[in-house]
Amino acid sequence: MSNNGGGEADLDVEALARRYAEEREKRLRADAVTQYQSLKGRFAAFDVDPNSVPDFQRERVEREADVVIIGGGFGGLLTAVQLRKRGVENIVIIEKGADFGGTWYWNRYPGIRCDVESYIYLPLLEETGYVPSEKYAKGAEIYEQCRLIAEKFGLYADALFQTLAETLTWDNDVQRWIVTTNRGDRISARFTVAATGLYSSPKLPGIPGIETFEGPSFHTSRWDYAFTGGDADGNLTGLQGKTVGIIGTGSTGIQCVPPVAQWAQQLYLFQRTPASVDVRGNGPTDVEWFRSLEPGWQRERMLNFTQWTSGLPQAIDMVGDSMTDLFREKTTSAGVEMSPEEREKAEILKMERVRRRIDEIVEDKATAEALKPYFHYFCKRPGFSDHYLQVFNRPNVTLVDTAGKGVERVTPQGLVVDGREYELDCLIYATGFDFMTSYTRESGLSITGRDGVSLEEHWKNGAHTLFGMQTRGFPNFFVLTIVQAGTSINYLHTADVQSIYMADLIAHCLDNRLGTVEPTQEAEDEWVDLCIQLSAERHAFFEKCTPSYFNFEGARPREFELNSPFGGGPLAYFEYLAKMSEEKFAHRLEFG
Ligand code: NDP
Repeated sequence: MSNNGGGEADLDVEALARRYAEEREKRLRADAVTQYQSLKGRFAAFDVDPNSVPDFQRERVEREADVVIIGGGFGGLLTAVQLRKRGVENIVIIEKGADFGGTWYWNRYPGIRCDVESYIYLPLLEETGYVPSEKYAKGAEIYEQCRLIAEKFGLYADALFQTLAETLTWDNDVQRWIVTTNRGDRISARFTVAATGLYSSPKLPGIPGIETFEGPSFHTSRWDYAFTGGDADGNLTGLQGKTVGIIGTGSTGIQCVPPVAQWAQQLYLFQRTPASVDVRGNGPTDVEWFRSLEPGWQRERMLNFTQWTSGLPQAIDMVGDSMTDLFREKTTSAGVEMSPEEREKAEILKMERVRRRIDEIVEDKATAEALKPYFHYFCKRPGFSDHYLQVFNRPNVTLVDTAGKGVERVTPQGLVVDGREYELDCLIYATGFDFMTSYTRESGLSITGRDGVSLEEHWKNGAHTLFGMQTRGFPNFFVLTIVQAGTSINYLHTADVQSIYMADLIAHCLDNRLGTVEPTQEAEDEWVDLCIQLSAERHAFFEKCTPSYFNFEGARPREFELNSPFGGGPLAYFEYLAKMSEEKFAHRLEFG
């Protein structure tokens, strides 16, 4: 490949492809997604919510509602807001945590921020008038925005916190969903929306001996500040004098490593696959600029970002960051989609720049080499940090590279890699979340539709949906995931569009006194066929990728085609939904 004018030397693309394939081979394992275990059974202690109200008690609730929403994260909040905007008042929200916020309630680890620009990621900024303090917001700020939205739209009054929805059963005679919870509640609802989140089920690696470690140990999603001291801004005084181990170098690991390195006496970071870590470039908000934005700016900016990151260059790049710059050296004109070859070239060059940045920052050559990612840029969620690579120049930080094999064993005292035991005072799992493997397992919900059919049974060979949100045989039931849905890198954009669609449809039913709505068999089959057809390209790409949750750890289970995002991309998906609303749901749906 020739010089692209951006300072890139010639690259041997074939040699790189061979290297990528070798790195993938090293990491493939027969147990694929089953190598992980959930925070249940003997690991239930890992799932205890450090931020809940201890011994929380309340009266059991028995009532009727127009809509029950399960989950108070972005999906649930936005759906509730859109329903309120359409005059639907009788809404109950059931939430496992002690407050709204979802991901941003649970994840409070030190250093937490969102990788997506705050101006397009914090929901409903125009409605709340909130001005994010920085271009990339801290987790706590996003959490506060969720609380502010819930206050503004009066969602606290009917929220049931620290409550797990357990069963959702459709009663065809009365055309209601009966929702029961672990606190004995029984709610009869016309519609249910399962918005249980994308990354809500933390997982632990199945490393032999994992249950034997004797020191404090926790998952990043349940950070134990009682032990570490401090808060998300650092000041982790409890780690002073301690030897700490962190397993995992995904987006979470990248963010929590710098503050831990600052406070621990010694940090061992256990790496299986290096992340791609690009420039962050955070900075304070120019408040004057922010206040000058015209109404409608947030959706316009979200769209501009999704267009750029979908390979559809525009005349201007509003966000202008390390995510959108991937395609900035475009050869196509604004509004013309890039060809697969152009995208491929841009992605190869991006990864090369990411590897060179490591050489520029990390002083120890062997460590720098071990930190270099050799996979296609989009095989894993790209990371961004101006602090992560720098920690490897500290004398108290050691990268323990496991050469793609992962940690060998956990002992009562620490971790074993390549036959050497690393003794630890504390062990932190930055090992991610169960993702798109089984909706029932991830959500913990037992859902029974018409004729007593369970959703688990209905989807046992993969999901069957219309637009990823509805499934035939389960009237008035909506689910918010990205399975069979087109998703932007900015999840807020997806959640925003889906919530508007759902609220439009539910309001349409209520306004027109329509008792039930579900996809026609024909429309569902068509959508599923389209998803399968469009998944071919995606599969060809992921088949060459290093294992991760994106490609079911390199395996290709039968349900892969079905349990994947819509291959047509977010922009086409958003158009489908907008058209459905515009046409007043005249097609694809059966009303009863
Ligand atoms: P990930 O699944 O991305 O990362 C898990 C890490 O654990 C990987 O590095 C994985 O290695 C490692 N691991 C797993 N098993 C072992 C083992 N046996 N031995 C050694 N290492 C092991 O989880 P994250 O929590 O980092 O991120 C999940 C998602 O959440 C992200 O992809 C992103 O979408 C979102 N997120 C966004 C953030 C943001 O916007 N700032 C911040 C945090 C998360 P391997 O790669 O080899 O599998």
